[in-house]
Amino acid sequence: MTLTEKDSQYLWHPYTQHKTAQTPIAISRGEGALLWDENNKEYIDAIASWWVNPFGHSNKFIADAIYKQLTTLEHVLFGGFTHEPAIKVAEKLMEILPENQQKVFFSDNGSTAVEVAIKVALQYFFNKNEKRTTIIAFENAFHGDTFAAMAASGISFYTQAFQGMFIDVVRIPVPVKGQEQASFDALKAVIKSHNCAGFIFEPLVQGAAGMVMYEPEALAKLIQICAANKVLTIADEVMTGFGKTGKTFAMDYVAEQPDMICLSKALTGGTIPMAITTFTQEVFDAFYDDDINKALFHGHTFTANPTGCAAALASIDLLQTPEMQANIERINKSHLNFEQKIEKHTKVITARTLGVIFAVEIKSDSEESYYGSMRTKLYNFFIDKGVILRPVGNIVYVLPPYIMTDEQLQKVYAIIEEAIEMV
Ligand SMILES: *Cc1c(COP(=O)(O)O)cnc(C)c1O
Repeated sequence: MTLTEKDSQYLWHPYTQHKTAQTPIAISRGEGALLWDENNKEYIDAIASWWVNPFGHSNKFIADAIYKQLTTLEHVLFGGFTHEPAIKVAEKLMEILPENQQKVFFSDNGSTAVEVAIKVALQYFFNKNEKRTTIIAFENAFHGDTFAAMAASGISFYTQAFQGMFIDVVRIPVPVKGQEQASFDALKAVIKSHNCAGFIFEPLVQGAAGMVMYEPEALAKLIQICAANKVLTIADEVMTGFGKTGKTFAMDYVAEQPDMICLSKALTGGTIPMAITTFTQEVFDAFYDDDINKALFHGHTFTANPTGCAAALASIDLLQTPEMQANIERINKSHLNFEQKIEKHTKVITARTLGVIFAVEIKSDSEESYYGSMRTKLYNFFIDKGVILRPVGNIVYVLPPYIMTDEQLQKVYAIIEEAIEMV
């Protein structure tokens, strides 16, 4: 049996209707921005394997750090114990995160990072004997697939089977250009009519919605409104963190600081699943008490896994090298050039760039759904040409590993241009 045949016998894939889906491609190795399948066909990974891999596949520097840690201390429980890799990650984050962030909580993936933040927001007010149970989120947000994260997510077909079983979430419009005031007004109205505990948002870029972008000034204003009403703010930087927007964090563009930040995806350079939620001292202090019931009773078996921490430290080291910062700038310039070239095309509605993120919306005759026919046609075209891109409806985005060469980037752009002609 081939790998693909064995796969269909045993495996259940994410976001997949197995009855109608095409068989998955079996990838056997990766290097830099390239992947090879079992038949040795080459692919350019133009979405950094779901946004996790900034430094390239099979990165030796991170692999060496992981090996060294694996053969020193692979894991130890974090309840009642601690270790140097976790402390070093926390110290490092204190240097690079917005300065109000003081406490670091480990978990395993983006959804759990969000789950922790939402539970903390709710319990923060419980501990203070204040009844605040509503979470505010953006329309078309994506915060993950565990229950509270799913409740905060607004992409409806992901969540429709569970309607009525969620925590209380109220949605406000995204302050995209020209619609900022509607977003501010909606936030004020929600805060007035509900007992709001927290506001969770993807700062500056909504990834899963199709790289929808909005300005730092608008986000600063929303955070100010929350702060004035003692509503806790949660920046979900799971996608945007570690250089994607051109700065280390999207919040580095914003004049206001959030109460909590969620990190995962590129945290370990795409090697080991790990996530972090960070907090202000003020949030932590609401749980600091002689009363054990005020503690945060949340944890995961692999919390602060030392091997994951070693991978995170190596990744942050790589991110901070001048070479990697130059790569981010190089890709940004390249995207801006391509944006200028493509945005005038008659079949293009709009194109946008922030950092290493580029997105183009293609004109479609029908209302294009998330997994609609244009999306499938585009996806197959790209795969056929050896480029991994996952369009969101009629939106094609590129989020390459930072080490992608100019030649590879130009190839990705050329194939997108071809695709626009084709559909
Ligand atoms: C991917 C993502 C998540 C969920 O992360 P998982 O590791 O898939 O659970 C949460 N928030 C944002 C903004 C994301 O992009």
